[in-house]
Amino acid sequence: MDEVLENPSIKAYLFRLIGEEGINLLEKFPKDGEWSDEQLAAQTGINLNSVRHSLYTLYEKRLAEYRRIKNSETGWLTYLWHLRMDLIYDVIRDDLEAILEKLEARERYEEENDFYICKACGMLYTFNQAIDFEFICPSCDQQLEHFDNEILLRALKKRIESIKETLGHA
Ligand SMILES: [Zn+2]
Repeated sequence: MDEVLENPSIKAYLFRLIGEEGINLLEKFPKDGEWSDEQLAAQTGINLNSVRHSLYTLYEKRLAEYRRIKNSETGWLTYLWHLRMDLIYDVIRDDLEAILEKLEARERYEEENDFYICKACGMLYTFNQAIDFEFICPSCDQQLEHFDNEILLRALKKRIESIKETLGHA
């Protein structure tokens, strides 16, 4: 765990995911065994709701798992948690792949379309929409002008390259 949190980009990722208190929970999470949310709250001094919130958020990302046990007398369920920080690299990779896919779709869209803008209200239209509107903005009747998306496209390509580099498929 310490070694995972020492990596600044992983720590930043986790911070965006679970915030300061979540990081605090990870730092204080007992090395071995399985723990209920109440035990974790008591041991770490973090409030129970915050512990639960962090655990469920981590669970959604596969970074925490629980085992459910039923008290045979009361019928109450207890959830015993442990962390799966060994999966952090896979989880971050999956997230980056998903972002990359979206950016590449956006890149294709920007490359395949010609854009027209209404400078009065800032609305952007594709070439096909602009034709339908006869190059007149439907919301304010101003003439549409060609919009150069070169800068946006260049920024997209840069972002895509840097993610590919991180993922090792540049
Ligand atoms: Zn307009």
